[in-house]
Amino acid sequence: CVELPKTSDIMDCLANSLYRCPEPVLQVSAWTPIESVLGDFIQKGEESAFYVVDLGSVIMKYFEFVRQLPRIKPHYAVKCNPDEQIIRILAELGCNFDCASKAEISLVNSCGVSGERIIYANPCKPESHLRYAVEHGVDWVTFDNKDELEKISRVSSKIRAVLRIATEDHESLCPLSSKFGALPDEVMELLLLAKHLGVHVEGVAFHVGSGCRSVQTYIRALYQSREIFNLAEDLGMEPFHLLDIGGGFPGFDGESPITFYDICCGIRDTIDCLFPVDQVKVIAEPGRYFVSSAFTLATRIIARRFRTQIQEAGVSRLKASFCLQEDISHSDLVADYYIDDGVYGSFRDVVSLGVTFYPKTFISSHAVIDYSRFVRSCVFGPTCDSIDCIIRNYPLPILEVGDWLYFTNMGAYTVSLASCFNGFSCPNIKYICAL
Ligand code: PLP
Repeated sequence: CVELPKTSDIMDCLANSLYRCPEPVLQVSAWTPIESVLGDFIQKGEESAFYVVDLGSVIMKYFEFVRQLPRIKPHYAVKCNPDEQIIRILAELGCNFDCASKAEISLVNSCGVSGERIIYANPCKPESHLRYAVEHGVDWVTFDNKDELEKISRVSSKIRAVLRIATEDHESLCPLSSKFGALPDEVMELLLLAKHLGVHVEGVAFHVGSGCRSVQTYIRALYQSREIFNLAEDLGMEPFHLLDIGGGFPGFDGESPITFYDICCGIRDTIDCLFPVDQVKVIAEPGRYFVSSAFTLATRIIARRFRTQIQEAGVSRLKASFCLQEDISHSDLVADYYIDDGVYGSFRDVVSLGVTFYPKTFISSHAVIDYSRFVRSCVFGPTCDSIDCIIRNYPLPILEVGDWLYFTNMGAYTVSLASCFNGFSCPNIKYICAL
């Protein structure tokens, strides 16, 4: 195990990266409650949804990764959250990058990262993006089909191709292998074609699906990869030197039945045993692991309505309620709250993956919340679409228009998936560093 760096080293690294960051960063102690940080920003004038991003959390996650998996070089998956400050901090720490397109390569380059620190890990790419990658010094490129190999051979002989294989990732929150990865019975043909075309194959890549729920999925993929290393040797190819174990690590404890540590303990020895240190370089492409817990989203209640649920002739129906004192004491009161971010913004995973985001109440200076009474509440996003609903039947106290709800662990696949549907833009971002 490597030692955790000294706080002074972390602060130096932070000072260096912040020096290059265009945005101001508020330094707070690690013990400062997030509610108090949110309250400060609101007092300073935030009026609509905003993110608080703790860069200190990203730094600690990076050091934890290299401590737990000292042999594995992380390549942050930019698609997860292309925040420039985060890219700069990770770059400063020594992290490399996984890019999926020309725009991501350009973004990472613009943060001072050269092409040799990037893997172009999208197995199906427009040829123009591939040319751009090569022109910008990116050598490692994944592929999983014949056309892609031909594309690679047309574009440049400098490319060091990496064969992406499918995994048994059905248990993961977001399985990827129905779309990407060569099947076991396709591998031999692909390797023979690479040999025939003179494409240099550097090694094997896999992804166990984002939000992996089983260590066994990694272990199976490691054994599968070893078989392909052996096959390449049997086919008389140059021995493979690269293993890319992809992402899939949970973003925070409780997100998945397995923790980051379970995965590390499960894979460390298997990797060393199957892929000797002096022969194989191992990399990973963590996305959600680095950023999930760094982001807290504060949203504002922009509208609300109350109704009473009544039973008539065995059928449940909603009846008008104006939230008068007598309604509030009614046990069947239900509330609808409309907030200024929704499933077309940061909460896309509610509809695409069925993820549940739990709101937390936040006392603003304008209202004192009465926690003596909770009512069944729906929280809707701001657009005109009825699927724009974040959570239903969730107990919340009675809240006012102008009050705030906040959500923790909001860094992964939120900002990067948001659209401007109905003219709503992405929340402001405020940076802090809690160390
Ligand atoms: N690498 C590739 C090729 C991916 O497609 C993804 C996510 O889709 C990642 C890495 C990041 O995965 P995660 O956020 O689960 O770590």
